[in-house]
Amino acid sequence: LLALDNISAYYGSLPVLKNISLQLKPGRTLALIGESGSGKSTTARVISGLLLPAKGRLLYQGTPLTADFRMRTREQLRQIQMVYQMPDTALNPKQRIRDILGRPAAFYLGLGGKALHERVCDLLRMIDLEPGDYLQRKPAQLSGGQKQRLCIARALAAEPALMICDEVTSALDQLVAEDILRLLEKLQRELNLSYLLITHDMATVRAIADEIAVMQHGKVVDQGTRETLFKPPHPPYTAKLLAAEP
Ligand code: ATP
Ligand code: MG
Repeated sequence: LLALDNISAYYGSLPVLKNISLQLKPGRTLALIGESGSGKSTTARVISGLLLPAKGRLLYQGTPLTADFRMRTREQLRQIQMVYQMPDTALNPKQRIRDILGRPAAFYLGLGGKALHERVCDLLRMIDLEPGDYLQRKPAQLSGGQKQRLCIARALAAEPALMICDEVTSALDQLVAEDILRLLEKLQRELNLSYLLITHDMATVRAIADEIAVMQHGKVVDQGTRETLFKPPHPPYTAKLLAAEP
């Protein structure tokens, strides 16, 4: 679905990504792991067109994808959606849920009137909320887990093919985090979504990753499936990461 072909990127003169090549397959989950500062979120920024790579290409379904998000078509923007770690900073506290979900559905899919209302209600049901009074609520009137589910629904409003999830469960307590992961799995089955799942949590990786890429100092140092990477013999750096697990 999406490929990164030899991407290098800098912050100023600081090299942060060095010849990154990754492949995301339709309906599959690629987990991107590695120590803090290794370049995982920067990789997400390059994919979403917020940081221009100095070198290399993005390919979407085999066709080059413009690096700069401002040059992408609405249809291209629709296909790749992001969910972040902190729902509080990702949601506008003044907007009601009806608008938080309605705006992207109107913008990307051209819905209006009754069809838009129906779509917003469906999106709420997809994240296991009964529309009812939720339509009128603002983010502050939701629990932490509900806010994160709302961020997921907002991404789904665009009917994307790929969702980039950057530490989406890190700010939540463990039971809520597990709920979110089960929701992501359910959505993947129902909608054939691809995920780029950025996480520190090995249990998450074991639970839902099909493929895994391990980053260190801006490079992908190990890459494989859950079976090849997480069963001995591990490549040396992955072995070190696994040994550091609590
Ligand atoms: P974490 O697991 O802590 O989220 P990460 O793997 O997502 O880490 P990145 O955020 O991609 O790491 O950062 C990669 C490197 O780029 C780090 O050395 C970081 O300090 C640097 N960096 C990140 N954002 C900026 C920025 N806006 N300006 C300059 N340097 C940055
Ligand atoms: Mg990060």
